[in-house]
Amino acid sequence: MPHRASDSFGSLVFAGDVMLKRLPPDVFMNLQRTVKNGSPLDPAIANTVASAMKDWALEHGATHYCHWFQPLTGTTAEKHDAFLSTTSDGGAIEKFSGSQLIQGEPDASSFPNGGIRDTYEARGYTAWDATSPAFLYRSGAQTTLCIPTVFVSYTGEALDKKTPLLRSIQAVAKHAMRILKIFGADQGVNIITTLGVEQEYFLVDTELASQRPDLTICGRALVGAPAPKGQQLEDHYFGAIPQRVIEFMAEVEQRLFELGVPVKTRHNEVAPGQFEIAPTFENANVAVDHQMITMSVLKETAERHGFMCLLHEKPFAGVNGSGKHNNWSIATDTGINLLDPRDDTHTNMQFLTILCAVIRAVDTHAELLRGSIASAANDHRLGANEAPPAIMSIFLGDMLTDILDQLESGNPKKTMKGGALELGATTLPQLPKHTSDRNRTSPFAFTGNKFEFRAVGSSASVAWPNTVLNTIIADSLDFMATQLEKRAGKNPTQAKLESAVKSLLKEVVKEHRRVCFDGDGYSKAWHDEAKKRGLPNHTSTADAIACFGSKSATELFSRYGVLSKRELEARYGVMVEQYIKILRIESRTLQSMVRTAILPCATRFQAELADAVGATMACDIECPGTSALLREVVGQVEALRTAVAKLEKAEQFHGDHEKEARHYRDVLVPAMLDVRRLCDGLEKVMPADLYPLPTFAELLFSTR
Ligand code: ADP
Ligand code: MG
Repeated sequence: MPHRASDSFGSLVFAGDVMLKRLPPDVFMNLQRTVKNGSPLDPAIANTVASAMKDWALEHGATHYCHWFQPLTGTTAEKHDAFLSTTSDGGAIEKFSGSQLIQGEPDASSFPNGGIRDTYEARGYTAWDATSPAFLYRSGAQTTLCIPTVFVSYTGEALDKKTPLLRSIQAVAKHAMRILKIFGADQGVNIITTLGVEQEYFLVDTELASQRPDLTICGRALVGAPAPKGQQLEDHYFGAIPQRVIEFMAEVEQRLFELGVPVKTRHNEVAPGQFEIAPTFENANVAVDHQMITMSVLKETAERHGFMCLLHEKPFAGVNGSGKHNNWSIATDTGINLLDPRDDTHTNMQFLTILCAVIRAVDTHAELLRGSIASAANDHRLGANEAPPAIMSIFLGDMLTDILDQLESGNPKKTMKGGALELGATTLPQLPKHTSDRNRTSPFAFTGNKFEFRAVGSSASVAWPNTVLNTIIADSLDFMATQLEKRAGKNPTQAKLESAVKSLLKEVVKEHRRVCFDGDGYSKAWHDEAKKRGLPNHTSTADAIACFGSKSATELFSRYGVLSKRELEARYGVMVEQYIKILRIESRTLQSMVRTAILPCATRFQAELADAVGATMACDIECPGTSALLREVVGQVEALRTAVAKLEKAEQFHGDHEKEARHYRDVLVPAMLDVRRLCDGLEKVMPADLYPLPTFAELLFSTR
């Protein structure tokens, strides 16, 4: 019998059957209450769970355990401790206690903390998140038991991405529950947010990639002229997957299946060398952890297959960038999707209320949503080739737009139906036709029964965009619930409730539908129209993140218990700092590449040309073409020397971080582009054996 993927699914995860078999029934039930219903964790069960986890981990060859957490770096962190403990008689045994499972103590001052911890205030804690299952991570011959945890400071403030995410999910649950109550739904359920994240990435042959410091250090090409063939022929998207790549994908999938990550889809993306992997959606907290694991597995597995996996948002200028489509919805823990419009949508008042809450949230808090996906890397992608612009807008499609029109006139009466497609040959099936087309240009699109937030960057942790999204949704659900409670009164009749809903939705649609746009989001016309509608359009991170420093944001995040003033300030501080640091690293990498590789090679070329001109002149032969090229190269080399000196100067700035970020936006970023333009000009005329870097043509087609 061939091995089936389902046989090993979740084999490295302490959940489901493994837990059921290894825990006493009362402990199992107790833990399930926390995992499934969100009940408080009972510390009394920790010792039993820890002991079962340890036995299971040891049987799989694990030697160490670690608290696995997500600091503000945007990556994951782990400090390994051996199970091995010495005994008084000089021997050793493997030990793992309940308190070691529940709490850890990493150094808090060595992670970005936005001023919450000083270097001399090092104490921080990790705390077990029982709602995301522990797993065994294999790296070569090493197996480590990883326990998902939150990470907080000695003073209890969140220093990570998971804590606020969990709080934001709770905030959505609380206010969605009020809406459900108003509509008379079963009150025994728990509400969660659901999440399915599509990950785009590039693969480049390691041998070529490792010759480029920009790819190895920054994850993107800082210089490089476009390849003659990019994505013009549209022949890569969904094309046959090259054998080397599909073998890599299969190993990634196998490893992820074992880790319980339900990956489902794989395909070629638009740009040459670009691919995608997507899972089936899950509870958002677990989905976020699984997304972090997916990124690690992609990178590690790529190395074994001779590839470098680039998760950067824009590794190659001129072709598609990579995103991470964040498919999001709200559901009951019994599996009812609250964003399912159902058949007669115009009568589904609960759905329409939640839909309008989303529209209101995205319009009211467009800046926060934009800020949630801001990074120096995503700045290159947003608004460029086939990427949504920095303007936040919602695509609803024909059916919902029609219902919005009806809501605005006060009384929705019908739901558009999709019908069927006749394909013209009797042997072909009749296809049911959706009520709406798709819109790939929208940053926030309704796709049938969920929203797809497409502006998220490919290298980002999705924890923060979801935290922000949940918070603004909680605010809107709170608003809708409060309004309905006020307008309909206690125990309203069906008629009274319906009239309250219709009057509220009419107002909300009127006020907020300016954020809805179904047309071409890539077009200049939309940019002009959005400006007229007063929608914000921050193209640079330096501007986009400023909203997190505002009073209204502080008030919003603390009202819903997601982040205190200090916690939000800290995050804002870290974002500004990261923007500056990334640009500085890129600038220095570029300077070094130009000074130590591109300029010396260009100068050699210049000397070769000068020799050629000299030699021909000595024979009294005219060589106007070569002389012209020499003049051109000398001009470009001199201009490049000046540009790189200017870049070095642009880096220097004295002032606070916010000002420095704006200075980098206005001076450093353009200075890098100047240097790049000159390098790319030289690349086009220099002999292939003298140009010191593999070209885009070589890199983009290196996966075959
Ligand atoms: P599409 O064709 O719209 O891209 P897919 O069915 O391929 O839709 O799904 C894309 C992603 O959206 C997948 O990860 C999928 O599991 C996820 N998804 C589907 N339904 C939901 C939902 N209710 N909540 C969150 N994510 C969802
Ligand atoms: Mg999609």
